[in-house]
Amino acid sequence: MAAPGPALCLFDVDGTLTAPRQKITKEMDDFLQNLRQKIKIGVVGGSDFEKVQEQLGNDVNFWSY
Ligand SMILES: [Mg+2]
Repeated sequence: MAAPGPALCLFDVDGTLTAPRQKITKEMDDFLQNLRQKIKIGVVGGSDFEKVQEQLGNDVNFWSY
């Protein structure tokens, strides 16, 4: 069996990282800032990018497919 490759943790935004359409709490932000030191993380959601930045902060990068 091959060793696992690099991992990426993806999180839903509304209802997971934040209350729906609300800003992230300090507690959750601290958790993500700590986690991102250990593993790549990303967020997935249906909102437009500007709304996600309002909720999570401006250090969120945008990928669209
Ligand atoms: Mg959701």
